[in-house]
Amino acid sequence: MMLDEVLKANANFVKEFEPKKMSHMPQKKLAVVTCMDTRLTGFLEHAMGIGRGDAKIIKNAGNTIVDRDVIRSLAAAVYALGVEEIMVVGHYDCGMANVDPGKIRAAMMDRGVDQKTVTELDLKEWIGAIDDEEKNVVQTVEKIRGSQFIPSDVPVHGLIIDLYQGKLKVLVEDK
Ligand code: ZN
Repeated sequence: MMLDEVLKANANFVKEFEPKKMSHMPQKKLAVVTCMDTRLTGFLEHAMGIGRGDAKIIKNAGNTIVDRDVIRSLAAAVYALGVEEIMVVGHYDCGMANVDPGKIRAAMMDRGVDQKTVTELDLKEWIGAIDDEEKNVVQTVEKIRGSQFIPSDVPVHGLIIDLYQGKLKVLVEDK
């Protein structure tokens, strides 16, 4: 199991680690909504010039909003943690643009998820499958912008990153 490997790595990490007191307030007053894609790990932060303690990073499958969870985290970031600017950062070649709802439905039933529950579900919507990475960023920006819980004085920008070149492209620039 990976657990053993992680705990071993952690024991080595702790030996070398020099504790330092840090604020939980993001130093750049920034929140980022992005994808859980493994290729963004340890990459997107560098590409954006974000260091430890600088920003709130909210990740999920496909940087989409399908329930209240992202808005909840952004509201906490804005009202409790001093965030003044939000960026939605998608990426090309996103796994959620290639997901096959039919396959997921079959896999769920194979693994014992109740057949009736799975059949009644709009799997594409539930899992947050996307059709186009750029459009999806714009839609997520619109959902945040349209939320009654996010104040209008907080700019919400939309960006997309190329995983192979590291370049960010601005899709929505809020003033
Ligand atoms: Zn993705």
